[in-house]
Amino acid sequence: MKANEVRELFFEYFNSKGHKIVPSAPMVIKNDPTLMFTNAGMNQFKDIFLGNQQPVSKRVANSQKCLRVSGKHNDLEEVGRDTYHHTMFEMLGNWSFGDYFKQEAIEWGWEFLVRKLGIPEDRLFVTIFEGSPEENVPRDDEAFKCWERCFSDPSGKILPGSKKDNFWEMGDTGPCGPCSEIHVDIRDDSERKKTPGYDLVNKGHPLVIEIWNLVFIQYNRLSNGSLEQLPAQHVDTGMGFERLCMVVQGKKSNYETDIFQSVIGKISSVTGKTYGSDENTDIALRVIADHLRAVAFSIADGQIPSNNKAGYVIRRILRRAVRYGYTTLGVEEPFIYELVPVLADTMGNTYPELRSWMDHICKIIFEEETAFLKTLGKGLKRIERLIGELKDANKNILAGKEAFELYDTFGFPVDLTLLILKEQGMLLDERGFDNEMKKQKERSREDASVQAGDWTVIRNIEGTLFTGYDRIDDNVLITRYRKVKYKGKESLQIVLDRTPFYAESGGQVGDTGFLTSDKEMVLITDTIRENNMIIHIAAGDISDPESAFHAVADLEKRVMTANNHTATHLLHFALRSVLGTHVEQKGSLVNPDRLRFDFSHVSKMTREELKQVEEMVNRMIRENNDQKVTDGISMKEAREMGAMALFGEKYGDSVRVVEFGSSVELCGGTHVTNTGTIGIMKIISEGAIAAGVRRIEALTARKAEEFINEKLAEVDEIAAILKSTGNVRESVEKLVAENNSLRKTIEKFQADSASALTRELEQKSLILNDIRFISGKVQTDHADILKSIAFQIRNSSDNTVMVIGTAIGGKANILVMVSDKLVKSRAINAVSIIREISGEINGGGGGQPFLATAGGKNPDGILNALKKAEEYIRKI
Ligand code: ATP
Ligand code: MG
Repeated sequence: MKANEVRELFFEYFNSKGHKIVPSAPMVIKNDPTLMFTNAGMNQFKDIFLGNQQPVSKRVANSQKCLRVSGKHNDLEEVGRDTYHHTMFEMLGNWSFGDYFKQEAIEWGWEFLVRKLGIPEDRLFVTIFEGSPEENVPRDDEAFKCWERCFSDPSGKILPGSKKDNFWEMGDTGPCGPCSEIHVDIRDDSERKKTPGYDLVNKGHPLVIEIWNLVFIQYNRLSNGSLEQLPAQHVDTGMGFERLCMVVQGKKSNYETDIFQSVIGKISSVTGKTYGSDENTDIALRVIADHLRAVAFSIADGQIPSNNKAGYVIRRILRRAVRYGYTTLGVEEPFIYELVPVLADTMGNTYPELRSWMDHICKIIFEEETAFLKTLGKGLKRIERLIGELKDANKNILAGKEAFELYDTFGFPVDLTLLILKEQGMLLDERGFDNEMKKQKERSREDASVQAGDWTVIRNIEGTLFTGYDRIDDNVLITRYRKVKYKGKESLQIVLDRTPFYAESGGQVGDTGFLTSDKEMVLITDTIRENNMIIHIAAGDISDPESAFHAVADLEKRVMTANNHTATHLLHFALRSVLGTHVEQKGSLVNPDRLRFDFSHVSKMTREELKQVEEMVNRMIRENNDQKVTDGISMKEAREMGAMALFGEKYGDSVRVVEFGSSVELCGGTHVTNTGTIGIMKIISEGAIAAGVRRIEALTARKAEEFINEKLAEVDEIAAILKSTGNVRESVEKLVAENNSLRKTIEKFQADSASALTRELEQKSLILNDIRFISGKVQTDHADILKSIAFQIRNSSDNTVMVIGTAIGGKANILVMVSDKLVKSRAINAVSIIREISGEINGGGGGQPFLATAGGKNPDGILNALKKAEEYIRKI
């Protein structure tokens, strides 16, 4: 059975059990400060478990793209070394939101694996939670009984599991509960006879592995560590799709399934290395095949490699692949980008974003590979130098600190350092390296740690009504609040029943302002979004959270931000009109001061294009187009209205469409009511930020006016300096022309005086050792003249050594010229002569064998230097 059929069968089965099949949420998470990437199917339903949101259906199933490379789940180091952990993988899941519980979840899981897929039941083992007296949670007898009914002979099949493996928690606090895992033993029969499968469950054996985890959410963990029963019970299951396919297809490794075979085939044809030849090659092939997926899917989700946060995680994954290619497969050229089309072929039907972004993904991977291969080159040079130094010092251990610096600043992987050292018979102080690594991890953990207290719930109201589209202030009630400590600073997070404060999202910054009651005033320093919750950040404490408050957002900030946000829409429209419809939004930042817009386009925009875009935006502003908003419609309806679909929309989201004239955008932001109030937009910069992605920055309204006035004032100042009364441009042109003609006059004058000086010097020439020797101290104000003289002499004779000097502004300059013929036939070198004599002027210099110069602090030594040169030639 092909992988795609397995996936379809899963959907079909759970659909027949009343589940709504929903699409995968994006793998890159934008609205949750606690998580960078989706690492389990349940992430997109977190708000439902927390009770902040109602489910669209009580039974849901899907396949979710997950990435486990950071935070709580980090499998990166395993990937490629083993055959069943991936960075990016698909997790099949079925959910019950307060609907069915253990009985159905277990029965259906069993039926799907055994009856639908035909996995022999003697290969299956399951675990149940053994209970925890200190938590006051009993053994999961209910699950045990359910499993007992599934197996025809349950003895030795249902194993007790510890809190570590069988009690699932969403985080330090929040929903949690016992879980039950399904394991499969895919060893050969002979092996199975030797060691029974139940001895190998959860022991890290590559052929006795967990494929499905069924989580029964029934508790809520409070921040003091205690558990309380949840009012509604949920089911959350996750099954590794690649592992399932391996089992169904009778393979011993995920990489032998059809999911990976064509990509591995392509890597082989590009690198000439085949799978199965030796362990190290196999690891490299697996790493590359795996990492390609993680990187390609992230880019398709809008996360390009970069040097911080989520972008850095992606960069590190790609670099790991490049370096396996480099060290193990011996590929020193970019090649991973060539694999993207094969991946798009294999997975593009299920994940169409791979197809639509293919060119973009290829380009970005190519750039990253090229840049990292250069870094590897630089690192190699550095390590060669370090090895040289060790050898000179008769040592053979490289300090951990050096290896860490190579790793940290040069991105040079430590296993490569080890390999190179080994080749030289040297060692690495690995403990020292680990220590440095540990220190860095601690530093970043301290930076990132957010300590959040429990929510104090004052009023049981779900969600927050956002009233800020129409108003700037409102009468509000606090529904919950909590204390949060971040980087040692405490703040208060407040949720309201309704709010005029816009929470940061879609590139638009969060509102600031204040809450007032009869008793107090609380300053709101920012407004953020955590999933569907709007959180107001307050600097101080609140003495009486129960009282009624009036919330007031900063009007000026809001108006200026709206100008920039609407102008961003107009800019997007104008770019597509002028450059073409390949222009797509790649990122945006809108704050009160300016707007920043990133978009796909390959080449630098010409001045003419920029002018056209700016003119079009300003025309649309003057047309005074009214804001037209259509809220609560489906994605399909929005598309029919002409709005572009953006990746990153969650299933079930109803969308909001904002129109100004011909500009139609999906947007949740706040805007001007008529474009006329923007006044004017001025583009202030355009440049590249990544392969195929460009960035424009622009100003609007008062900020644009200030910018333009500053530029005009500059012109006025220039006119004043030039004492220009009419056309400034003409005055500048005149100035440049005058300057050119003056320079020519000076050059002519210099040439004349150089000729005169040359003749003078030639008259004093000596013949020493068959060489014409010219020397002298020259009177001039321009050091350049020494060179002019040298070139004149060089052209007129092929048997000359000339040494001349001059004193300008209290400094000494000397020049040595040797005819080419003498350099060759008598091995006379200008640089050697300069070295010999420059001590006399207290200085030093260098150059080439035929021409060298030196500068020094002692002009009085020039004559001695010349004398010394003469002696040098006499002795030759
Ligand atoms: P393991 O112990 O094998 O790492 P886990 O306990 O981390 O698994 P869960 O968090 O319960 O796994 O995830 C549910 C399912 O997702 C697992 O049963 C497994 O089939 C699959 N899975 C987990 N991590 C990976 C991974 N890195 N690559 C592929 N599949 C995975
Ligand atoms: Mg794991």
